[in-house]
Amino acid sequence: MSDLETYRSTARAWLESVAPTFGRDARVGLSVEDDLALGRRYQRAKFDAGYAGINWPVDVGGQGLTHIEKLAFDTEEMVFGMPGGYFGISLGMPVPILIRFGADKDFMKERVLKALKGEEIWCQLFSEPAGGSDLAGLRTRAEVDGNGWKLNGQKLWTSWAQYCDYGVIVARTDPTVPKHKGLTYYWVDMKAPGVDVRPIKLAGGDSHVNEVFFDDVRLEDSQRMSPVGGGFAVAMTTLMIERYIATDSGGFGPHIDEFVDLARHTDLNGKPAIEDGRIRSTIARNYAMRSGLESITTRAMLMMRAGMEPGAEGSLNKLVAVRSRQKLSELALDLMGNSGFAFDAHASVKTDWAASWINAPTGRIAGGADEMLLNTIAERILGLPQDHRPDKGVPFNAIPA
Ligand SMILES: Cc1cc2nc3c(=O)[nH]c(=O)nc-3n(C[C@H](O)[C@H](O)[C@H](O)COP(=O)(O)OP(=O)(O)OC[C@H]3O[C@@H](n4cnc5c(N)ncnc54)[C@H](O)[C@@H]3O)c2cc1C
Repeated sequence: MSDLETYRSTARAWLESVAPTFGRDARVGLSVEDDLALGRRYQRAKFDAGYAGINWPVDVGGQGLTHIEKLAFDTEEMVFGMPGGYFGISLGMPVPILIRFGADKDFMKERVLKALKGEEIWCQLFSEPAGGSDLAGLRTRAEVDGNGWKLNGQKLWTSWAQYCDYGVIVARTDPTVPKHKGLTYYWVDMKAPGVDVRPIKLAGGDSHVNEVFFDDVRLEDSQRMSPVGGGFAVAMTTLMIERYIATDSGGFGPHIDEFVDLARHTDLNGKPAIEDGRIRSTIARNYAMRSGLESITTRAMLMMRAGMEPGAEGSLNKLVAVRSRQKLSELALDLMGNSGFAFDAHASVKTDWAASWINAPTGRIAGGADEMLLNTIAERILGLPQDHRPDKGVPFNAIPA
């Protein structure tokens, strides 16, 4: 057995041992608050067992292993429906960015440890009403205030903000220069005076996204994580990590085996659906697509292992995986007939076709909408000419609102 296979089977055995306490069945019927409390205990159990911060440096509390072990653990963990979603963004983007760009190292180490143990959660405050796909178009302002900064404005679609202790945020510090050049990156205390979080209800029934308002919120200069005017580059580093994390080859929907099982046990024109040519061809295409994406991910992971940065391939992965999950979920609902309409707001998108289908559109927007991913693929992978950008080089305050 290779070292990786040993690692994987040890991880699987640990996951199986804690699944009765934290897994899918243990979560049925819990309120979000109770599920979050269970999630915090699960995160602590992961930390104690050496499965938190798998690929993070040992000196900040990580395990010092590689992305390969991290991917192996995540793949095994996915099967059990553990309550890890609350920490996905926190440990995925903001905290790794804090490790890399946080100015106060003692503060950084304390926060990282608490985040790894599930005691604190971080959110990512990028999108705004006027700055989603066009992140550089954001309007939240940070103005010099004595030896620090004063933050005013609104963010939108901030996942889990209502439960977060801290967030990373991009704000405009100079409206007189072209839009990408006038941004600065900070961390912000979500409990600070002037921060107001308001949850938004989504079609799937949950309220994990929020509007966040900032009204004269004080930031110390030590909260700055980029040079003044250099925030866009740090934001891009954050988003590149996000597109790797934001997907698996099934786009976070049910596994293809679940579809095969459904097709075996559903009657279509007097025969099991699995015997229908269209169904068989869908299964084959989906399987081939997932294998292709897994190969791309493995190649990207090997590149990272060799010390290279995650590249634009993450965009390809997210685009294809979530789109095909939506199509497969739709076909599964068709096969299920009337019973496909039964919708349970607490059902897992990993096992329930209706939940997977109704939540797929948000998956096609969060972390980069389809069209933006297509632009990234065209420009950064295929080397095609840039999209038309009429505001390029124009000072932000001269762009018509
Ligand atoms: C469930 C969920 C969770 C989220 N969590 C977070 C979070 O934690 N933190 C955070 O900061 N944000 C979060 N977001 C916001 C997300 O990043 C944005 O919604 C996304 O970037 C799209 O921005 P927008 O909503 O402003 O849409 P817009 O940018 O207004 O886009 C609208 C449509 O126009 C298309 N479009 C825009 N520009 C172009 C172009 N140049 N060429 C072609 N088509 C274009 C888009 O593809 C899209 O179809 C979340 C969103 C969702 C749905």
